[in-house]
Amino acid sequence: MDSRRDFLQKVALTAISIPFFSFSRLSAEQQISQARYDGPVLRVAIMGLGGYGTRVAEAMQSCQRAKLVGVISGTPAKIKAWQSKYGIPAENCYNYENFDSIKDNPNIDAVYVITPNALHHGQSLRVAAAGKHVICEKPMALNAREGQEMIDACKMADVKLLVGYRLHFEPKTLEIIRMRNDGELGNIRFFQGLSGFRAGDPNQWRLDKKLAGGGALMDIGIYAVNGARYMVGEEPIWITAQETKTDTVKFKEGVDETIQFQLGFPSGAVASCLSTYNMDNLDRFFLNGEKGFAELQPSTGYGPLKGRTHKGELTQPHYTHQTVQMDAMAGIILNGDKPVVPVDGEEGLKDLKIIDAIYRSCKTGERQVLEL
Ligand code: NAD
Repeated sequence: MDSRRDFLQKVALTAISIPFFSFSRLSAEQQISQARYDGPVLRVAIMGLGGYGTRVAEAMQSCQRAKLVGVISGTPAKIKAWQSKYGIPAENCYNYENFDSIKDNPNIDAVYVITPNALHHGQSLRVAAAGKHVICEKPMALNAREGQEMIDACKMADVKLLVGYRLHFEPKTLEIIRMRNDGELGNIRFFQGLSGFRAGDPNQWRLDKKLAGGGALMDIGIYAVNGARYMVGEEPIWITAQETKTDTVKFKEGVDETIQFQLGFPSGAVASCLSTYNMDNLDRFFLNGEKGFAELQPSTGYGPLKGRTHKGELTQPHYTHQTVQMDAMAGIILNGDKPVVPVDGEEGLKDLKIIDAIYRSCKTGERQVLEL
């Protein structure tokens, strides 16, 4: 039994509430000793108190290294409710007009931007200018140009920029990556990533090009884009893509309903992916190598994920993704921890470069060469 699985089982047996391991290259013993953590804590303000912001706030209640201490919202009633629920002091509450003054607040270290996609870029630039670390939801921005500007701004301000890729800390995902790295799957030949759900309310911001920046690809297809990279373990060098639309009323110009795309990798491995707003329960990753396979279904939902390989079922335990993510991100920001799969701005930028190329390929019908 490998040390990580050993550790996870020990954690489960001793009922340590929630581990905050980043799955960096710590030994099992180091990870356990960190479970009795009394070191520095990352003090986080959440910007955007919607569906996902609420989920992150709840999950953070079980964090050890990260603490929810502030909010940024345009809705005073929500601020009030969050203040009483989470004990947030008035001086840590901001709205979208005045949050630049967070720079004068020594009690907030980082802002987690969880607003509609089109707002990420401008809001992250303002957070960086205020001298606070930026954690930004996916997609990091609307395109690679914006993503690069965010990276540059954070570098200039000497703050960290992380993207909310919670699956980079998910135990079954990491076990597949370990198996691949240890050669247990042989040379990787093929990945399939299927990511989709049926978009309901036609009036939601996800179907508004101005706020979403696109359609299913920006919102859910990005999981297949990102997953192809961390599952294959290489950066793609070309893409081809094809778009289909069955409902031009719901999915207006610039809002993609369904896109198939293919990626080619330097080793010769290929990926075949589907992104859609028109199928429910589409959430499957399949990785094939010369010696074995690994599959996850569901592969990117909030879990528990389920999976198996040619060696049998994956048995790593489930922990609330956002709890593990935020503790791990605190470790990255406060201690310079290095996760197995990066979650920094460069990682987000690579996905945006691929997404830009997918949209170009859909328009032109031509294969796009990628330099990531
Ligand atoms: P949501 O609609 O539930 O919440 C969005 C919040 O932003 C709301 O509180 C809304 O009031 C606020 N907001 C601020 N300015 C706004 C404006 N101009 N227009 C509309 N709303 C505005 O959306 P959500 O599902 O919480 O998604 C927010 C972000 O989180 C998106 O970028 C999405 O991709 C990301 N997300 C990530 C995951 C994940 O698993 N990592 C899951 C869901 C959503």
